[in-house]
Amino acid sequence: MPAPTVPVNVDQAEINKFNELASRWWDPAGEFKPLHQLNPTRLSYISDQIQGLHGKVVVDVGCGGGILAESMAKAGAVVTGIDMAPESLAVAKLHALESGVNVTYQQSTAEQFASAHPGRFELVTCMEMLEHVPQPESVVQACAGLAAPGATLVFSTLNKTAKSYLFAIVGAEHLLRLVPKGTHDFNKFIRPSQLMRFIENAGLELVDCIGLHYNPVNQSFRLGAGVDVNYFVVARKPC
Ligand code: SAH
Repeated sequence: MPAPTVPVNVDQAEINKFNELASRWWDPAGEFKPLHQLNPTRLSYISDQIQGLHGKVVVDVGCGGGILAESMAKAGAVVTGIDMAPESLAVAKLHALESGVNVTYQQSTAEQFASAHPGRFELVTCMEMLEHVPQPESVVQACAGLAAPGATLVFSTLNKTAKSYLFAIVGAEHLLRLVPKGTHDFNKFIRPSQLMRFIENAGLELVDCIGLHYNPVNQSFRLGAGVDVNYFVVARKPC
């Protein structure tokens, strides 16, 4: 029997890391606490980008345990979440069932899903995922392939700056212990200029680039000027 092959553009060590943490996805005080704290802010920003989520056909690429996917479905979107960590998907499915929210979850890479469902989605979200894959540009290309003409795409990732090293690795992993050590690899962080080039190369138009800021005092996030740590990029597929 041939050995099972790992699909291209997957870092199996990253997937293993997320699989091991899968049971923690929905603990609001656990390893994914920052994503829970961030979710209301990103949900309303994403919703504003497409004039409301109700009825929109959405794919969430690298959905993890479904924190964003489920909240978009609750807002009335028709959501599919894809991820390569089967244990995270199992947790996501169970949680959606418990919440009574309808989300379709599937194990797939963005690339595989784009070849099966080209031009299908009005909104493509790909949050905090690009810094975990070997070739982020290939994911951006695949997201462009998933998008219907006129669709909106929202990406978020970590910039490659001294400040992001200090905040996302030294601060979040070592000092505040917000997330487990080894969650992020600085070498995989992506500058906004790089992400914008990927977007342009994928035939997409840039709509917005905005920074995400964490306030450790009141433990909240806000979006605003300054993209030197975490940031969002919004793009549109031409009609
Ligand atoms: N987008 C979610 C989770 C971010 S964590 C959120 O913001 O709440 C990053 C996720 O990307 C993990 O769930 C991990 O399993 C997934 N991932 C990493 N590499 C992937 C790949 N090649 N294809 C699909 N998902 C991947």
